[in-house]
Amino acid sequence: MALIVKKFGGSSVATPEKIKNVAKRILSDKAPDDRIVMVVSAMGDTTDNLIALAGEVVEKPYHYAREMDMLMTTGEQVSIALLAMAFHSMGQPAISLTGAMAGMRTDSAHTKGRILGLHPERIHEELNKGNIVVIAGFQGTDDAGNPVTLGRGGSDTSAVAIAGAIGADTCEIYTDVDGIYSADPRVAKGARRMKEITYNEMLEMARLGAGVMQPRSVEMGQLYGIPIHVRSTFTSEPGTIIREEYTVEEKSFIIRGVTHDEHVSKITVLGVSNVPGIVHTIFSALADANIVVDMIVQSVRSAESNVTDVVFTVATIDAEEARQVVEGIAGEIKASAVAIDNDVAKVSIVGASMLGNPGIAARMFGALSNADINIEIISTSEISISCLIKGGSVKDAVNRIHDEFFPGAA
Ligand code: ADP
Ligand code: ASP
Ligand code: MG
Repeated sequence: MALIVKKFGGSSVATPEKIKNVAKRILSDKAPDDRIVMVVSAMGDTTDNLIALAGEVVEKPYHYAREMDMLMTTGEQVSIALLAMAFHSMGQPAISLTGAMAGMRTDSAHTKGRILGLHPERIHEELNKGNIVVIAGFQGTDDAGNPVTLGRGGSDTSAVAIAGAIGADTCEIYTDVDGIYSADPRVAKGARRMKEITYNEMLEMARLGAGVMQPRSVEMGQLYGIPIHVRSTFTSEPGTIIREEYTVEEKSFIIRGVTHDEHVSKITVLGVSNVPGIVHTIFSALADANIVVDMIVQSVRSAESNVTDVVFTVATIDAEEARQVVEGIAGEIKASAVAIDNDVAKVSIVGASMLGNPGIAARMFGALSNADINIEIISTSEISISCLIKGGSVKDAVNRIHDEFFPGAA
């Protein structure tokens, strides 16, 4: 007997036909005494469409974060109800549960919620009755009973958190690609599928834009020590296991992957006084507004001038608010202007073996310069190097860098 969590993403349940196929696949893969918990996303582009709908009613929908959560949580409720009905029609007992009913408790950070804990009693109760339990991903509830969503892609995190809390044997993430690739296979022609990847490398890839997994889901898997199996909804390919260590030998590449993120904006604060405390003032104000800042550069214009420019990047979704925050303190920091540039993207390489391996950065910069792509900002971590470039160059950049590190991988 196995206790298995299976998560199906939006493209896997995009149409009534696909929902029926998911139910059929679950039943044909299921051993008689398997206990199955499913975590399901909203159908297809439903979440995007709901956000667009709100945008037709008000100019800044995220200003009304609680109501955005009330709106967005409806998407997952449609798919869980339909999937549970599909099981019933096939003679399989099943029940759909919202995040709240499944015991998913979050903080009150609407649209960016964090899971505080899971009370899985109801899940166990329903499994004991012989049900397949179909849970709405991406959502939980705060202490006051308000619906809270977990950030885009949050169903991955729901699935791994539920797997951890119920002590599942495995957590399977079914999606529209058949595993984790060395770059987004929709962008890099030569991208290769990996059999395994470590939590640390996957977490870095996810943070740097590999949208296949929400970063928090990988953190959660590491925390609970749950291997995460990413595989295709539509084929039976073996997929990729995300776990602590590698167990099989793969051809050794110095880097594991190339990622890109187009949802990045650059904010330039011009003409700031070059005196102690100014950057502290800027970034404290941003932190107070709950805005995560990524790359930061402070440049002195000339040795004589007492003026600097501070440049930083944020997620595009936070860019307008970040600008307002900085404009609000422009007088205090004596900034002459604040500008946003949305036409930027971040391209990164990730790999634990690059640590102590000289020349990796030079090869990445060389691949970009050979393609005549200018680098605006560089940042590094122990296991990654990132470059901010013009938005329009991003696909070319990913392919050039991928070819450099994975020659002939196609
Ligand atoms: P779901 O709706 O199932 O959650 P997502 O769209 O969130 O699916 O994630 C799957 C997509 O992630 C793929 O279609 C692929 O384009 C993208 N992706 C980005 N980077 C990678 C990568 N390194 N490996 C695999 N897929 C990736
Ligand atoms: N439906 C949500 C989204 O589109 C959550 C998810 O798919 O993981 O972001
Ligand atoms: Mg997703």
